[in-house]
Amino acid sequence: MSKRAYNFNAGPAALPLEVLERAQAEFVDFRESGMSIMEMSHRSDIYESVHNEAQNRLLGLLGNPSGYKVLFVQGGASTQFAMIPMNFAQEGKQANYVKTGSWANKAIKEAKLLGQVHIAASTEQEQYMRVPELSELQLSEQPAYLHMTSNETIEGTQFKQFPDTGSVPLICDMSSDILSRPFDLNAFSMVYAGAQKNLGPSGVTVLLVREEIIESSPSHLPTMLRYDTHSGNNSLYNTPPSFGIYMINEVLKWIEEHGGLQGVEAMNRKKAALIYNAIDSSEGFYRGCVAAGSRSDMNVTFRLGSEELEKAFAKASEQEGFIGLKGHRSVGGMRASIYNAVPYESCKALVEFMHDFKAKNQ
Ligand code: PMP
Repeated sequence: MSKRAYNFNAGPAALPLEVLERAQAEFVDFRESGMSIMEMSHRSDIYESVHNEAQNRLLGLLGNPSGYKVLFVQGGASTQFAMIPMNFAQEGKQANYVKTGSWANKAIKEAKLLGQVHIAASTEQEQYMRVPELSELQLSEQPAYLHMTSNETIEGTQFKQFPDTGSVPLICDMSSDILSRPFDLNAFSMVYAGAQKNLGPSGVTVLLVREEIIESSPSHLPTMLRYDTHSGNNSLYNTPPSFGIYMINEVLKWIEEHGGLQGVEAMNRKKAALIYNAIDSSEGFYRGCVAAGSRSDMNVTFRLGSEELEKAFAKASEQEGFIGLKGHRSVGGMRASIYNAVPYESCKALVEFMHDFKAKNQ
């Protein structure tokens, strides 16, 4: 077998090796059909069984909460930033948003194009180095919904708890931490995520939606931008990204085989603790960017003493086979994205590299 890279990419990101190998094994002749899954009709029984299996598996991992549907759509989480206000904004009501960083800001930008926005809490003044406490959230008088970003992929912050919003629909962008830990879907009206971090390849966006809120979209909306179109047709109104959905089904099987959400959470915590510990015990050589209590278990962000040193770190790490450690171009610094499929061994190798680099450069 060829050597796998230490892949810390932010997304598209590492996929489980077992899943890639399984996909490889059944690539050319899927379930004795004489063709790959990419070549068959999305109306065929074989494809539909994979499609439904993926939906059922996902709900199964979340404890089969009643009243929810799984939708597969395209256009990335970025299209959801617009579809959410299109479908759920209401005359005389405000779309409420928690302003936690780069991705929340993109969601807010779209919502402002489409209706009235209220910022329920913001940590912009603190350069987004923490997420707000739930007690800081202040909803508007007539909230249409509350939107949160559970994990800010660029800044490296993560909510550890979610608010009880009562009758106000809670909508959450979980693109960068979905299925990295258990969560109570019942607290949310809608959860959405681009697949390319924890779920599978890019090209599929997964939505978990409470059925009652998607029964009828506003009548003026175009067909493909209405949740009721996708819901009413089991996400088969048009051609779905079938290969991506097949891969998601395989990744979900892999999660089941690794102890479900509790199992992956325990491993994720262990991986994150290892790297944060290397940062905290470096006597200031490495500095975490995020306040304790808001640190993400998925995207570990840190800085070095100068930009030159950061460039040297990025270069040396690449030479040693570490991929994707440069922080997002908008914030600089370093970032290790350690989604579910990043093995503990990669994190261990990174920590060893960090020790060595410090010894050579301090
Ligand atoms: N939200 C978050 C938290 C993200 O990390 C990303 C992608 N990095 C997006 C939204 C946008 O996703 P997409 O590229 O699928 O539109």
